[in-house]
Amino acid sequence: MKCRKCGEKASVNMRQHKLALCKEHYLEWVPEQTERFIEKYEMFSHDEKILVAVSGGKDSLSLWDILIRLGYQADGLYIGLGIDAGINYSGESHRLADEFANEHNLKLHVVDIEKEYGQPIPVLSEISRRGHGKPCAVCGLTKRHVMNRIARDLGYDVLATGHNLDDEAAVLFGNTLSWSGDYLLRQGPVLPSADGLARKVKPLCRFYEREMTAYALLRGIEYIYEECPFAEGSTSIYYKEILNQLENDRPGAKLTFYLRFLEARQSGLFAERNDSTLHLHPCTNCGQPTSAPGLCSFCRMIEKVADKESIVSNL
Ligand code: SF4
Ligand code: ZN
Repeated sequence: MKCRKCGEKASVNMRQHKLALCKEHYLEWVPEQTERFIEKYEMFSHDEKILVAVSGGKDSLSLWDILIRLGYQADGLYIGLGIDAGINYSGESHRLADEFANEHNLKLHVVDIEKEYGQPIPVLSEISRRGHGKPCAVCGLTKRHVMNRIARDLGYDVLATGHNLDDEAAVLFGNTLSWSGDYLLRQGPVLPSADGLARKVKPLCRFYEREMTAYALLRGIEYIYEECPFAEGSTSIYYKEILNQLENDRPGAKLTFYLRFLEARQSGLFAERNDSTLHLHPCTNCGQPTSAPGLCSFCRMIEKVADKESIVSNL
C-alpha cells in the first residue's frame, strides 16, 4: 500500500476513507482535518481561550497536541479521580498528563477530587449510593461539575474533550435504541454555552478511534494504555463492539451513522422537543445551572456524603 500523496510506503490505511498515507502525510492530514471540523461546526476561533480536559489517554493528549500544532491557545485540565484499582490508574494518568505538559511547556490545571471534596471517586460513589455499585455515575457528574467550574472561574471560552467517532457513535446508538429525544437533541460536536455553562466542543468526533491511536503512536505521545478499570463490562463498550462488527463488514458504516444523524438533527428532525427546553435555575451553593430550584445534583451528592460521614464520626 502506497501513500496517496507521495507514493512512499503507507503507514496508515483507512479503508473507510479509501485513503492510505505515510507517517509524514498522516501527521499532516490529522490536524488539517481537525481544523476543517473546527471551522465547519464553528467550534472556536484563534482568539478564544480553550480548556482541554486531559485524562492521560491517547484521545485527550492527541487533541491537546493537535490544537497546539494548529496554533490555538489551549491549556489543560487534569481531574484526579483517585482510582487505583491495583494498577495505580489515576497516579499513572496524572504522571503522563504532567509529562506531556512539561515537555511542551503548556499549562496544566490539576483538580484532585479527594483533596477538594474529602474522598476519591470510588468512596464518594459508595457513600452516596448512586450508580448501582459502579462509580461511573458519580464520576461523570463530578467531572462535568469540575470542568464547568474551572472553565467559568478561570475565564475559558470553551471546553474541549477528546471524544472520538467510536465514542460518539456508541452514545448515539444507545440513545437511538431508546429514542431518547432530549439526549439526541443535545448530542453533537458543539453544545452551545447556556446559563453559566461553558460551550463544549468535540473536535475529534469524526476520527475513528484507531485513527487517534495511530496519531498518538506516530507522534510518539506517551499515554496510558489501560482503560479505567471500571469501564469493563459497560454498555458503551458493548455498543462499540457491535458497531465494530458492523464496520468490519461495511467500512464507513460508523461514520455514516453519525454524519447522517447530524444532518437529520440539523434539518430539524428532533426539533419539536426543543420547545420544551428546560428552565434552569442557579444552584444555591455553587451557582451552576440545575433543573430544579435548590442544590444541583453534584452539591446534593456532596451534602449527602458529608451528612453520612458526620453520622459515622459521631458514633
Ligand atoms: Fe469514571 Fe472510570 Fe467510570 Fe469512566 S469508567 S466514568 S473514568 S469511573
Ligand atoms: Zn451546585
